[in-house]
Amino acid sequence: MAVTRTFSIIKPDATRRNLTGAVTKALEDAGLRVVASKRIHMTREQAEGFYAVHKERPFFGDLVAFMTSGPVVVQVLEGEDAVKRNRDIMGATNPADAAEGTIRKSFAESIEANSVHGSDSDENAAIEIAFFFKPEEIVG
Ligand code: ADP
Ligand code: MG
Repeated sequence: MAVTRTFSIIKPDATRRNLTGAVTKALEDAGLRVVASKRIHMTREQAEGFYAVHKERPFFGDLVAFMTSGPVVVQVLEGEDAVKRNRDIMGATNPADAAEGTIRKSFAESIEANSVHGSDSDENAAIEIAFFFKPEEIVG
């Protein structure tokens, strides 16, 4: 299995509860390495652009409001099969469905305020990484 990269966001519900370290530890314990990280407050334009794939969904407006409601930590994660490894440790979108030991089971407040984002494919990981990071900001 190749070493690859994925894109992660520690969402506003987690930063608000001071869980940046706890979430990052869970990612690291799962074998992922943080090779880029920054704390930002997303603009509405950034959130709408990032989640453009969901713009027809009924929850889109609420999702944009939530993602701009406080600081987030955007990260590039590196590891063996990073996209799948990250999705596995994140757990299901709805914390009610998330497996024991996953980040969302441990920390998420709701299906919306679910503590973390993770890319769903290598192709989307590359697009999402480029949305927030310049190449020189990533130090492997
Ligand atoms: P995931 O983050 O697990 O890849 P999706 O890509 O389907 O999930 O959705 C993106 C984000 O939109 C979710 O992480 C969550 O914050 C929010 N979301 C998804 N489904 C719902 C829903 N039914 N109601 C409210 N928010 C939702
Ligand atoms: Mg998704």
